[in-house]
Amino acid sequence: MRSTEEFAWVTLTTNDNYGLGALVLAHSLKRAGTAHQLAVLVTPTVSEAMRDRLKDVYNVVQEVNVLDSQDAANLALLARPELGVTFTKLHCWRLVQFEKCVFLDADTLVLKNCDELFEREELSAAPDVSWPDCFNSGVFVFTPSVDTFTKITEFAVQNGSFDGGDQGLLNQYFGDWATADIKKHLPFVYNVTAYASYCYLPAFKQFRDMIKILHFAGKLKPWLIQFNSQTKTAATPNEYAHAQDLIQHWWTIFCDNVHQSLTDNMITITITITIPITR
Ligand code: UDP
Ligand code: MN
Repeated sequence: MRSTEEFAWVTLTTNDNYGLGALVLAHSLKRAGTAHQLAVLVTPTVSEAMRDRLKDVYNVVQEVNVLDSQDAANLALLARPELGVTFTKLHCWRLVQFEKCVFLDADTLVLKNCDELFEREELSAAPDVSWPDCFNSGVFVFTPSVDTFTKITEFAVQNGSFDGGDQGLLNQYFGDWATADIKKHLPFVYNVTAYASYCYLPAFKQFRDMIKILHFAGKLKPWLIQFNSQTKTAATPNEYAHAQDLIQHWWTIFCDNVHQSLTDNMITITITITIPITR
């Protein structure tokens, strides 16, 4: 395994709520003992206070802004506003100070050390639960390259995205993923969907201890779940009952590593965290 400076975990947040996810994710990576760098892409809509908190734990906090950028691919994409958030994720290919990266959605939680993922090649990802011949774009290994960035953005302008999001676009661009090279299929334990309707419950129980990365894909994000600050328990909804301990783990990291660093102002701008800050 090569030295630590060349490899980075990369996530994205366009607002302060997903910023909470990014903070918990970063601490989960550190708890799992990663040797690699952490980078987060932020848009101008992320508050200064949130950026400061992200800087505490991320080595790189990179602002990405569609409108400020002058290159042809960006300008072309401006004509396709529906691809907005998708486009933002693509900026990860511009982190060319790193040799290889793993993108993680801000709604993922790393449960075990996964540094071996950097031995994989672009584009490696795990199957999507609802259409396993597509990969899920919440966790993927990629090689930063301005050339690839330009090619994907041009492809997006030409072809759009069949699902309107980054997953459809990336599956179209890396269209031979399902058939070309089995080494680019990550085991499912690197991107396990937590939401019950997407989840095969007996298998979830059987293989629970092998899960390396949990993904809170879908509408209900951990930071939207009610948390009782007295009992320190999350009011896990039915859809997540099988993953109660893992939801609890997200909140434990939030309480231990994130909450005390937030200002009152940041608490009020988030819609669900109603616990008072006690120092
Ligand atoms: N994201 C963001 N702001 C948004 C929506 C999405 O920053 O308003 C980023 C964030 O990193 C998120 C990722 O894009 O994890 C993909 O979106 P999401 O996880 O909500 O999609 P899902 O996994 O539920 O399909
Ligand atoms: Mn996600």
